[in-house]
Amino acid sequence: MSQVPALSLLQQTDARHHFHPFSDNHELAQIGTRIIDRAEGVYIYDIEGNRILDGMSGLWNVAVGYDRKEIIDAITKQLHQLAYYNTFFKTSHMPAIELSELLAEISPPQFNRVFYTSSGSEANDTIIRMVRTYWATKGAPERQVIIGRWNGYHGSTIGGASLGGMKYMHAQGGLPISGIHHIDQPYWYGEGGDEDPEAFGIRVARQLETAILEIGVDKVAAFIGEPVQGAGGVIIPPKSYWPEIQRICNQYGILLIADEVICGFGRTGNWFGCQTFGFEPDLIAFAKAVSSGYQPIGGVLVSDKVADVLDSIGDDFNHGYTNSAHPAGCAAAIANIRIIQNEKLIERIRDDIGPYLQTRWAELGDHPLVGEARMVGLIGALELSPDKARRAPFAKVGSAGMICRDISFASGLIMRATRDTMLLAPPFIVSHDEVDFIVKTARDVLDRTA
Ligand code: PLP
Repeated sequence: MSQVPALSLLQQTDARHHFHPFSDNHELAQIGTRIIDRAEGVYIYDIEGNRILDGMSGLWNVAVGYDRKEIIDAITKQLHQLAYYNTFFKTSHMPAIELSELLAEISPPQFNRVFYTSSGSEANDTIIRMVRTYWATKGAPERQVIIGRWNGYHGSTIGGASLGGMKYMHAQGGLPISGIHHIDQPYWYGEGGDEDPEAFGIRVARQLETAILEIGVDKVAAFIGEPVQGAGGVIIPPKSYWPEIQRICNQYGILLIADEVICGFGRTGNWFGCQTFGFEPDLIAFAKAVSSGYQPIGGVLVSDKVADVLDSIGDDFNHGYTNSAHPAGCAAAIANIRIIQNEKLIERIRDDIGPYLQTRWAELGDHPLVGEARMVGLIGALELSPDKARRAPFAKVGSAGMICRDISFASGLIMRATRDTMLLAPPFIVSHDEVDFIVKTARDVLDRTA
């Protein structure tokens, strides 16, 4: 049988039986999926043998690259030793203990405890319960409201999608749940106009103060944000933004939550994005790069301040998942973090490959279609515009982004499109030559998108 009929047969089977996430499943059935077969280093290979540079690290998660023997061996060894056990009911196991100690070591000093989940969405659902239980235990059960941001992304579960500010997600399933409020995002390119970026950062942060005062200080529990909004279009806030958010949270005594599901474990040039942007959260949601995607694992880093209160509830914390602290997930995360440490990948992002990619990426800003080329660490975006002087949007929103994304994929480079913004977040091991390929291909693709 030739490859092409085999491919279309696979595509038909996929369309018949597989309900894809974040996809128009009807459309997929017409056009067929691209079937990914294997991967190595920064490259994925489709079933037809085409090699594609994965400029999105899978779904922002494959930090140390594909086919890392150390991680695969650690998982295999763990599965032989203890394939599964939970950490409910007064039990624990070695990989959970080792990973918890390691996370306490690499995270900011206020964090010494971790609650495990299998995903970032579950981490944020866990945070909703923790935050509300925290306030109830402190004798303020009416402090229920969590403030997030429009266009923020905190996952797909009902809780996570409610915290997030994606209106198209709220439209399906009757979201958000009660007690969630949203303020604007710090999106200077799209919403800042002529305003100085730092002044804009302060002004948008102060919407938090306005919201707290409108809702009532005694009703607000917490603020949640991604240090850099990822899925919303790699929105890198002005430097002034997070310190002002911190000031407001401190002043009104509300908890500050960093959703580090994308930024965590090095992406911005520090272990956590809050370190890059200079703020000290009370809770951190993490997932993705903690295991570089080799096993599904996520969790919540709980500061001493929050843990002390939750330790005093005088009852069980009635929350947990069958796969919380799954042994294979913990083993994958330990091996992955050891690679990041041993290969000094974060130092590399800060001092070597990060600055190199940032400089080369900025060159794309001279392209007639690029209104802004921004990047921090190894996470960046290109804002496309048909009239960059006016930052005008395209007549059909998202069309240029989708064209650009599709040409890019066909040219051997995965970039992602959000509206007309092209996103890039390559694995931490990307080489200088591969950066040159990324920039050259992105430029060619832009030429062909116009
Ligand atoms: N939070 C952020 C910032 C994310 O980017 C994501 C996923 O992209 C999530 C939460 C949800 O994580 P998961 O898809 O593992 O549930």
